[in-house]
Amino acid sequence: MNMFENEMHISFSALSQNESFARMVAAAFAAHLNPTIEDLTDIRTAVSEAVTNAIIHGYENRGGMVVMDAYIRDCVFEIAIRDEGKGIEDVPLAMQPFYTSAPDMERSGMGFSVMEAFMDGVVVESTPGKGTSVIMKKYIAEAAYHA
Ligand code: ATP
Ligand code: MG
Repeated sequence: MNMFENEMHISFSALSQNESFARMVAAAFAAHLNPTIEDLTDIRTAVSEAVTNAIIHGYENRGGMVVMDAYIRDCVFEIAIRDEGKGIEDVPLAMQPFYTSAPDMERSGMGFSVMEAFMDGVVVESTPGKGTSVIMKKYIAEAAYHA
């Protein structure tokens, strides 16, 4: 038996024009949970931050594939955004507010803080030289998903 009521897996090129594609797909998939407009905005924003990070930091704008896996079970929406890019040496440091390895690119270092503020759980798994996964959860209070 399938563990999840609904799941979705896609991969796309690490190009900035796919950021809006990724957040639209994630929001459209979550829509079945009957989220509020605010929930959807939160999901779109968090997904954008993670996908942007994969493209600009993971692959350093040199291209590659970004994988997005999303799951719905009960009232929980879960999404994992994965790259096979350069990875993160020190995850707790990278997640600190205002930490950025790219101040010259006018980055503010707030991406992970935004993800943590807008979602109900953010876990980052990363291996230098292998890549990064960002797994985020959101509880949808009025979830009304029927398989
Ligand atoms: P902002 O998101 O505010 O534009 P930022 O991207 O530097 O700035 P965060 O999104 O919080 O800030 O990320 C912090 C740091 O973590 C990045 O500067 C980068 O060094 C590292 N990082 C984040 N995601 C990845 C990734 N997918 N691969 C490699 N490094 C990453
Ligand atoms: Mg960022």
